[in-house]
Amino acid sequence: MTRYKLWINGEWTESESENTFSVINPATEEVIADVAYAKRSDAKRAIDAARDAFDNTDWSQNYSLRREVLRKAAKLLREDIDRLAHLETLDNGMPIGWARRFVLDTAEFFEYFSEMAEPLEERLDDRSTVYYEPIGVVAGIVPWNIPLKMASWKIAPALAAGNTIILKPSSQTPLTALELGEIFHRAGCPRGVLNVTTGKGRVVGAELAGSAGVDKVAFTGGTETGKEIMRLASGNIKNITLECGGKSANIILEDAEMQKAVTGSVFAIFFNSGQVCTAGSRLLLPESIHDEFMEQMKKETESLTIGNGIADPDMGPVVSSEQMEKDLRYIEYGIKDGAELVTGGERLDIGGRGFFVAPTIFDSVDPTMRIARDEIFGPVLSVLTYNDEAEAIEIANDTRYGLSGAVWSKDVVHARRVARRIRAGTMWINTYHGAPKHAPFGGYKESGIGRELGTPGLKSYLEVKHVMIG
Ligand code: NAD
Repeated sequence: MTRYKLWINGEWTESESENTFSVINPATEEVIADVAYAKRSDAKRAIDAARDAFDNTDWSQNYSLRREVLRKAAKLLREDIDRLAHLETLDNGMPIGWARRFVLDTAEFFEYFSEMAEPLEERLDDRSTVYYEPIGVVAGIVPWNIPLKMASWKIAPALAAGNTIILKPSSQTPLTALELGEIFHRAGCPRGVLNVTTGKGRVVGAELAGSAGVDKVAFTGGTETGKEIMRLASGNIKNITLECGGKSANIILEDAEMQKAVTGSVFAIFFNSGQVCTAGSRLLLPESIHDEFMEQMKKETESLTIGNGIADPDMGPVVSSEQMEKDLRYIEYGIKDGAELVTGGERLDIGGRGFFVAPTIFDSVDPTMRIARDEIFGPVLSVLTYNDEAEAIEIANDTRYGLSGAVWSKDVVHARRVARRIRAGTMWINTYHGAPKHAPFGGYKESGIGRELGTPGLKSYLEVKHVMIG
């Protein structure tokens, strides 16, 4: 049994609570690690360490050190890919092939941002110059769905920009984030620049979001938690970035290439067991091709392999018993509200253990039903039928979320016109789920505030200073 402490000020340190919590493999329900249960006082120690490293060392000015640390951390990740991917799969349940891909993505991400650790300034005219300066101490609060990658989306731009950071992973999946503490230390990261504290969101996360010692909170997680974080962050008017939930519309136009659109739609909803903020959880089909499309959709869905992520199936378990219960509850809502269950709709028995939910499709879903409105964050698809394009756009926008969506059509110009009318931060055409590191990512409406990735992502970790000569 592995035992993890907290990573604070460049070393493993016991929580003042002296308590631990168990981390469970969702495929087998076995305990795989015990992790220190941080208290508010531990979070305060981490904030003090990050504050000290920002205020009293040259980290924020030392561009070459930042470039070097990010580059070396990427190298160490690549060298350790087998162990880290295995750990990620045990912790989260995802197929090992994807876990490996995410370790590589994380390494590439660190490399990409290492190149951006450069002084940034803009001369406006003879008198005015704009300087971009680090904000200070950042709290990065992240969810459980793609743990290592979500952690890197906070760490890489925050450190490249010259900030220090306290990372708070989800208690469901804290292991690879904790590993990052030591990896960065081995990469030459000075003490206190990167700290990792585990524990309850309402305790440790709330301390980080509310503390006057923290200058920015960068959050990824559910919309209701995001709202609470906004309230907590108001105490000292923190800079905030929120990446919250979604209920994305995946719109098939009449002239879509059928086979490609079916395969893409299966991937859109069932990738990572539907536990992706951008999941294409509402499939919008035109009446004219509905029957043929659904027949193929059912066939492809029923051919997905499901099992322990270590065997690299198409789909692993969902992350926890709570998430499984939530998925099953929404399946019941779907049936009660009158939707037609096409496939799935149950817990799967795979070796008698584990949190496996069958890939589930509901047809004849009305836009007012709970399965059409709420983010389920599991392998449950709602299919809605439309008569004309105006109706498709209206249904797609009839949601409090605005994270992403897709349009499938042979006519890309037409598809782009439709994409422009959807109120969402990312729209794909004839593809799904891509998030290139140079392209801004984030949500409209209750899906969030601010953008991650690319230059906008870096700038969200920088203050803007205007210096004017008289
Ligand atoms: P969550 O909101 O329950 O938790 C996210 C993080 O916030 C965890 O680390 C948790 O401990 C912490 N937290 C919880 N309560 C807190 C509080 N009161 N104060 C401070 N921190 C607190 O989300 P989850 O269940 O871990 O993840 C699923 C959600 O994440 C989904 O809604 C999904 O859409 C969203 N998500 C969004 C994106 C995106 O980029 N938009 C990406 C991945 C996941």
